[in-house]
Formats: sequence, C-alpha cells, structure tokens
Amino acid sequence: MAKRDYYELLGVSRDASIDEIKSAYRKLAKKYHPDKNPGDKTAGEKFKEIAEAYEVLSDPNKRAQYDRFGHEGVKSSFGTGGFTWADFTHFGDVDLEDVFGDFFSGGGIFESFFGGHKREKRGADLRYNLEIELKDAYFGYEKEISIPRRERCNACGGSGAAVGTGKTTCYACQGSGQTRQNVGFFSVSQTCPQCKGSGQVIKTPCRVCKGEGRVRKVRNITVKIPPGVDSGSKLRIQGEGEQVPGGVSGDLYVVIYVKEDPVFKRDGNDVLCEVPISFVDACLGAEIDVPTLDGKVRMKIPEGTQTHRIFRLRGKGFPSLHGFGRGDQLVQVITETPTNLSSKEKELLRKFAALRREKEGKFRKFM
Ligand SMILES: [Zn+2]
Ligand SMILES: [Zn+2]
Repeated sequence: MAKRDYYELLGVSRDASIDEIKSAYRKLAKKYHPDKNPGDKTAGEKFKEIAEAYEVLSDPNKRAQYDRFGHEGVKSSFGTGGFTWADFTHFGDVDLEDVFGDFFSGGGIFESFFGGHKREKRGADLRYNLEIELKDAYFGYEKEISIPRRERCNACGGSGAAVGTGKTTCYACQGSGQTRQNVGFFSVSQTCPQCKGSGQVIKTPCRVCKGEGRVRKVRNITVKIPPGVDSGSKLRIQGEGEQVPGGVSGDLYVVIYVKEDPVFKRDGNDVLCEVPISFVDACLGAEIDVPTLDGKVRMKIPEGTQTHRIFRLRGKGFPSLHGFGRGDQLVQVITETPTNLSSKEKELLRKFAALRREKEGKFRKFM
C-alpha cells in the first residue's frame, strides 16, 4: 500500500506551524484512539498513520528531511523498533482524558510511544479473576490469592549484572545510545538495539535472572473484598503488578465474579427469593421463617394472600458499595397445592367446597 502524504493525513498545509500540526494531530488522535474504537481495525490503522505523520512533522529535522526526500527520507525510524501495539491497550477503566493528559504533558506523544527510554519505566498491570459466593459479596471477604509475576531479582538487585561485575560501554553505539544508519543521501539515528538506548551493556549477566534483572515468582496477597461487590467489580491494588528494575511497579486488578446462588438472586442491591407456603397459610394467614443471606427472619403473611405476592423485607439487601444505605429483600410467596391427601382430608375439603358453594350461591342472590 502506498503511503499517504503526512500533511494530507493530518489535514494541514505544507507550511503549517508546529502549533497547527499539534492541534490537528491531537484532534485526530482523540478521534481514532483505540480506546475510543475498540476492535475497529481501520481506526487502529488510521491512528498509527497519523501517529507516524505527527512523529515526523513535529520534529523540525525529520520534517525537513521529509519535505526534501518524502517518505524515503524518514522511513528507517519506523519498522521493527520500539513501537508495539500493546502500548496502546489500556485497562478498560482508564479515562481517555487521563491517557492524553499523560501523553501530551511530556511534550510530544512520540517520545513516549516510540522513544522507549524517555518514558517512565513501569511494570505491567496484572488482572486476576476471582470467583466468590453471593454470601461473600454480601458480607465482604478476605482471601489470599497467588499471583505469578516478575519481580526484581534479589541476586543482582535488579541490575542484571553478576555480583561484583558492572556495566560496560555499549560496543554497538560506543555509549551514545543511538546508532546511525545510512538511508539514501543522509544518515538517520535510531535507538541502539543492543543497549536499548542506555549506552551501557552488562559485562557478565547475573546467573539467577540471566541478565534480565527480574525473576518469575509467585506472590501471595491477601485481598480484602468490601461488602456489596458485584460481578464485574474491579479492585485495584496499587503496586502489586509486575516490577521493573529502576521503575515503578504495575498495579494488580482483581475482577470479581459472583457465583449463582441456588436460593437468592440479586437485582442491584436487592435480593430476591421465592418461599413456598401452604394453601392453608395463604388462606388463614401465618408467620413463617424466611431465609435471608443473614440468617432466618420471621415474616407475617396476612389472611387471603394470593400466590406470587411479593413482600419486602426492608434493609435486608446488599449494602451500597458507594455511600450509605442498603437494598431490600423481596420475598415472593408461592402457594403449594397439597398432594397425597388422606380420605379424611379429602372429605374435609369436599365439605369446605360445599360450604363455599352455599356461600357463593347466597352471595349471588344479593347481586
Ligand atoms: Zn539477577
Ligand atoms: Zn548501545
């Protein structure tokens, strides 16, 4: 596919000022950002294209090269190095404004996207799916979970160099962190792949971590689940993600899944359940035991209760996760028809039916 003109991509004229370029880019980047267009490949491609255009046009040297030689003049800054699509995938909750706030505050989005070494080093965020019982969501819960993650290597303190050895100047870039490559008429510099821009390489790698500075470990963490959580609730545990030598640890996100309960259903902060009652209790009224997540409670059923009527037990639902108050429990009574009647019971029911007919007959006379 032929590359599109960078000015055209950003919709600016060839003599556009840096501010015009910045503002055009910012507008387009927001529009096509992968977070705003999840799963949309065309938008993703477009985002990459405008990103590339901005990287070149926002840099006076690169822009001059591009103006003179076109795409040929700047092509080697792209390709295999530095840029990974994973950099654009953020955890679902991250606010787009926040994302851009970070990117733009550093004076140019591409220093963070493409430069690598200028970006604050941060370990990866981790996600842990935790399945809990409905009861645990009701009362809150403490659970120890095991998280496999990469941690700083203790043997070398994260340096990656064997004990007693240090680093030495990178042979590939002579310590500058940049290598130069001839492209057409001029040379283009790029981050040294050997030392990843640091200008130094390890002389003897640490035997424990093989020079990476990190090792795989399983860490046990006690997670406190607050009462009121529901499926999809996310708990962020700061700094419990992966570690990275000389950088900040990522975060751990615990995502809650609440198992189905055989007795109780949840609806927002309300709890629903069905309770069977005898037809006699439905006719005469009664006090019955009703299960709640917090044990049994007595509930009054008035005389002449119809089947499927719903009673509300105030404050017996889930506590609100954000703020005060709790939901209710809604109890639906289901009248059961008795089976296996004895002949005596049948006789009484026939008598009852006869009385009922008499009464209804009388009632009809009045109509
Ligand atoms: Zn090590
Ligand atoms: Zn180097």
